[in-house]
Amino acid sequence: MQMLHPFAGSSLQQYDEQISDPDRYRPDHCPQCEAQHPLTAHGFYRRTLVDAGFDGSIRVRRYLCRSCNRTVSLLPGFALPYLRFSIAVISLFLVARLLEGRTLKAAAAAASQPHMPYQRGQFWVRRFQQQAAGLCAALAAKTTPEPAANFVVRALLMLQALGWIAAHRFLFSELRCQLLGWPPFLAPHGRPAALGPALQPT
Ligand SMILES: [Zn+2]
Repeated sequence: MQMLHPFAGSSLQQYDEQISDPDRYRPDHCPQCEAQHPLTAHGFYRRTLVDAGFDGSIRVRRYLCRSCNRTVSLLPGFALPYLRFSIAVISLFLVARLLEGRTLKAAAAAASQPHMPYQRGQFWVRRFQQQAAGLCAALAAKTTPEPAANFVVRALLMLQALGWIAAHRFLFSELRCQLLGWPPFLAPHGRPAALGPALQPT
């Protein structure tokens, strides 16, 4: 099961320092079987991440519940499960493209990815458009809906007002929903039907 790491910053270096100490954010109970005892540190796995000025892999801390024998990984709030690009990169792109009306190329440059294939941006746009109405409804619990011509613009304004990472934390932790939706094999609630090998984000 994936949960969000409480680390609130966005610097990769700070994040990596903070997860080195297994006690620092050790969950005090199991979110899966509700056993009320602290989980056991269970090493790390690595996942890929692209952020402004970074294209590599980061460590993700994992804990084990001794009661149900299942693991919990604590994902940093600046990364989306199953997506390789950081929330910062994706949000800069979507705002430039859908709110400011820039071209795909200019939006990619605004997101510090001037050389990325345009299809990637189109993919983000399509996924966001599919989520927009649901995001507006979900985020209304956290911020007043802005008057806007359509759900896409309204969702973007709400995300800008709330902060994208704060919004992601709320959506993921409270509602198990994602800014860009779950990939088809995990839809609708982000839980695989059967446990498989750790999946690399696409
Ligand atoms: Zn458990």
